[in-house]
Amino acid sequence: MAVSLDTIISLCKRRGFIFQSSEIYGGMAACYDYGPLGVELKRNVRDAWWRAMVQERGDIEGLECSILMHPDVWRASGHVENFTDPLVDCKSCRARFRADHVEGYEAVYTVTARTDGGATERFEVTLGPQIPTKVIRPGYRHNGAVLEEIAEIKFKGSPRTCPTCGNRELTEPRLFNLLFRTHVGPIEDAASTVFMRPETAQGMFVNFENVRGSMRRKLPFGIAQIGRSFRNEITTKAFVFRTLEFEQMEMEFFCKPGTDEEWYRHWVNERFNWYLRYGIRRENLRLRQHDADELAHYSRMCHDIEYNFPMGWGELEGVAHRGDYDLTAHMKQSGKNLKFFDEETKEAITPYVIEPAAGVDRTALTFMIDAYHEEEVRGEKRVVLRLHPAMAPLKVAVLPLLKKRGEIVEKCQALTAALKQRWRAVYDDTAAIGKLYRRQDEVGTPFCVTIDVESLDDGKATVRDRDTMEQDRIELGRIEDYLAERLVLNPPKVAEPALG
Ligand SMILES: [Zn+2]
Repeated sequence: MAVSLDTIISLCKRRGFIFQSSEIYGGMAACYDYGPLGVELKRNVRDAWWRAMVQERGDIEGLECSILMHPDVWRASGHVENFTDPLVDCKSCRARFRADHVEGYEAVYTVTARTDGGATERFEVTLGPQIPTKVIRPGYRHNGAVLEEIAEIKFKGSPRTCPTCGNRELTEPRLFNLLFRTHVGPIEDAASTVFMRPETAQGMFVNFENVRGSMRRKLPFGIAQIGRSFRNEITTKAFVFRTLEFEQMEMEFFCKPGTDEEWYRHWVNERFNWYLRYGIRRENLRLRQHDADELAHYSRMCHDIEYNFPMGWGELEGVAHRGDYDLTAHMKQSGKNLKFFDEETKEAITPYVIEPAAGVDRTALTFMIDAYHEEEVRGEKRVVLRLHPAMAPLKVAVLPLLKKRGEIVEKCQALTAALKQRWRAVYDDTAAIGKLYRRQDEVGTPFCVTIDVESLDDGKATVRDRDTMEQDRIELGRIEDYLAERLVLNPPKVAEPALG
């Protein structure tokens, strides 16, 4: 059953997962706030990623970099010059949007490029449905030449229609840089300009030698980081699918050239299987390899792990082969040696890098979409999030059948206090039992424990399973063990060869 995005957005707001940012002031577009249950879901996503990427392995180290970095980092990476989208303005209604979102978009880019022989050439590339705009950047290879500069962009053919007002008064496309800028210190000039990082990856590259040296690492090894990044996207879309600030989970795996293809396959499979391990349905996942024309300038190979979102198949995670592009660029910009010296072969090696990169926000949204179910139970609609227990914001809710009976409430609170030592557990007596069950189903709580009048005699409570709605009578003293057996928070790894 396909769920609409509106249904998910409404659930997120109603049940405290995600709110529009600054809502009382009319909202801040493309920014969102995570509510009490959204915070728990995101923590679970991060924890599961960290477990798989760092804790369970021996070859990856963690890192946490500052968001503001030396501006040269972004000059070396190419973001200052090349991290751009082509934009157009409507002279009639003043709307501004991405040129490649205009219907029937085709544009002619006049570019200068350097051939393998060293000569500079000027030529034209037509961009449109075949070649997406994001790849035409300095460093892009086209017909044996490396692109150096984009001189001019013009729409191909007759004037285009504004998607907002319908008039045909669009400007020619111009390139717009996606970096957020701010200033360090009291003077706002070019010298004080710094950037909010657009990705966490560069932090790993500039700390390659720090981590390698301090942890006595040899190739291959990886560096993992979770943190916020910022992109001044003109076209944000689909709720938290693309936002101005977002949280990334990135890992740079440094290996010897020659072993790179094997590691690349390893990481595509590992990451694909991570989603299966935490319960994402196989039929909603697929792998898509980028065509050569579609690869970013730093990338030699790239696979997207795609999910079947309500708005269609879209990227969930990218695994990219970045070659030695980044370390080489930083060596050039900084003048520092970032090569690895192999004691055995007495060789200085510039490692190749395989990078799996996912977003916490998009992953959390995916878990919700995939888990969402509606069913009819005794003539009533039941909404249930069949989240994997590891992802469920709350693991267990303790509910009194009669909140007027002091002994029942006391027993409930004592049990909740005990369960809280191990899991995220809550006590709730704000409605009748049927309604309390429905509330917990809707937020994906795997188990509810109900204490009733009978419990006072037999010392047992009712444990209800979210998915089957089956109920077991369990002795109060055994409930913790009972739940521990069923709450599988660390599911076994899956080994499906998605990429052979
Ligand atoms: Zn317009």
